[in-house]
Amino acid sequence: MKELNEKVPDPKELEKELGDFLAKKFGGSVKLATPIVMPQSAKTDEGEKPPKRRKTIEFDLKPQDLIAHLDQYVVKQTAAKDILATKICTHFNRIKHVQNAPDTLNDMVGVIKNNVLMLGPTGVGKTYLVRLIAKKIGVPFVKGDATKFSETGYVGGDVEDLVRDLVKEADGDMDLAQYGIVYIDEIDKIASSQNLIGADVSRTGVQRALLKPMEETEVDLKVPHDPVSMLQEIDRFRKTGKKEKSSINTRHILFIMSGAFSGLEKIVSRRIADQRIGFGASISNPAQEEDLLARVKSEDLVQFGFESEFVGRLPVRAVFERLNEADLADILKNPNNPIILGKKLDFAAYGIDVKFQTRALDLLAARAYDENTGARGLVSAVEGALLLFEKTLPSTGIRQLAVTRKMIESPEETLNMLLDNPEDEGIRRTFEELSAQERQRIVDYVTDNSATFGEKYGLQLTASRIALAAGVYCSQASDIGKVLKKIKAFYQETKTIELYFIKNHGINIVLEEEAIDYILERCFASGSTPEGYYRNLTADFEHGLKLVRQKTGRTRFFITREALEKPDSYIADLLAPIEKKQSQLPLKPDNLLEGDPPK
Ligand code: ADP
Repeated sequence: MKELNEKVPDPKELEKELGDFLAKKFGGSVKLATPIVMPQSAKTDEGEKPPKRRKTIEFDLKPQDLIAHLDQYVVKQTAAKDILATKICTHFNRIKHVQNAPDTLNDMVGVIKNNVLMLGPTGVGKTYLVRLIAKKIGVPFVKGDATKFSETGYVGGDVEDLVRDLVKEADGDMDLAQYGIVYIDEIDKIASSQNLIGADVSRTGVQRALLKPMEETEVDLKVPHDPVSMLQEIDRFRKTGKKEKSSINTRHILFIMSGAFSGLEKIVSRRIADQRIGFGASISNPAQEEDLLARVKSEDLVQFGFESEFVGRLPVRAVFERLNEADLADILKNPNNPIILGKKLDFAAYGIDVKFQTRALDLLAARAYDENTGARGLVSAVEGALLLFEKTLPSTGIRQLAVTRKMIESPEETLNMLLDNPEDEGIRRTFEELSAQERQRIVDYVTDNSATFGEKYGLQLTASRIALAAGVYCSQASDIGKVLKKIKAFYQETKTIELYFIKNHGINIVLEEEAIDYILERCFASGSTPEGYYRNLTADFEHGLKLVRQKTGRTRFFITREALEKPDSYIADLLAPIEKKQSQLPLKPDNLLEGDPPK
């Protein structure tokens, strides 16, 4: 690997380099048309914002919060979730801790990063889990493939590319990029071949090239001979007059490597057998394989074909389980699953509402299982089953699709029936039944998780609010978390309504929880916002409440759901006792105490 502490080149040199590059590539036919304009001074252009710089990463998560978050998305993989969530959380918290108390650990020599080795077959959630964690923590994530490293012979170059991609993922924020996660798949393919006698030079070379970045090195952001990065450099210099630091240090970057490691279980098994005489070395089923992988030791990985220095830089190990047919069905039934949500979104783009029957999801899971690619098979199973409908329905007037088991078993027949009788009562009923089932599934799911969600989104999850969330989920292709966040945002907006009312009309209204739910329901149904609802509230209550205030001096009113549904009766009920008294007694305006809830 190239040492990258050389200084940033002068813009003139850059332009010359760029000119040479173009001349080499296109002969004399293409010339650099960029005028060499040197900056007037080192000040930043007017209106140009200085690049975002942050001192620390901002997150406040404990391992158990992260595990609870992952549980909402990832089926099975309990052990892997525990290990990854804990170690990745600790990695970032440790960085935060050191940044906040720079004198404590910063200079400690030999601190080993929590780089991770993930073992498990394809399509079991390895990438998905890490992506979810990166998103939750708020750090950029990039994924590459170790086989590319060896094939191109670009030893070391490719891992640098991944580090540079982190900057792109972080929208150019270099401070954030240096806390990114680099994920390298198929790492088992760079183990040197066990059948070779002597070292397998190229694969061992790739492993060696990874050692430095995995620990700490500077990666130059300017790619030699890449005209785009050179132009950017010239442009930046022209604008700011500053030679930006254009390298990134990998000391905080977390490296996660993964692979299927087929054959490793035999090595583990042999070692155990050697240690315990009489232990049967044969492996008869996948569950046993996983048990063996869970007992993997560094020496087994060395035996598998890794350099011991490489293994030493991957101290955290997580084994992923194989997924069975029922697990695949559970993945499809999970309301946050991107495969089903994505499909709903595809159809929603044509204004078509799709509902899935549970038994249909079971059948799709069975088909996916036969492909033997874990959950990856689910995407092709779902695509395969729906393609005909996705192709045909947008050009028809049909706007509802019930995905039943029968439809998946005989798609053409179902489609023809649908096209022949788009108004068929039976078809309509099936769709409605599936809608009701979907809604009930969501109600059950949110109810089961109400304590976690309530805390996470700072929302009291009453039965009516859960019903509202289920309704919104079913009408939009969006995951539960987003729905609850939106409800929370709307909830807060209703508080603004109370403020407006007192500010504009001098009347203190208190919206009761049920009343807030009513406003939220109306807003979601009509696509408006609580702030927009303020106008309705003013139209319905301003006049009446001012009248009550005038007659009684009362300025505070509790607004119930019934009050919003029937504002006239609410006002009439408030005025009735006053009018009654007025007709019987001399007027005593403060018989009604301020702050009393209405009957
Ligand atoms: P790999 O283990 O090969 O990295 P992925 O994580 O890329 O597999 O899985 C592909 C897709 O399958 C994911 O995007 C996700 O939608 C789904 N998936 C895989 N495993 C799980 C799981 N355990 N729980 C939920 N969804 C999963």
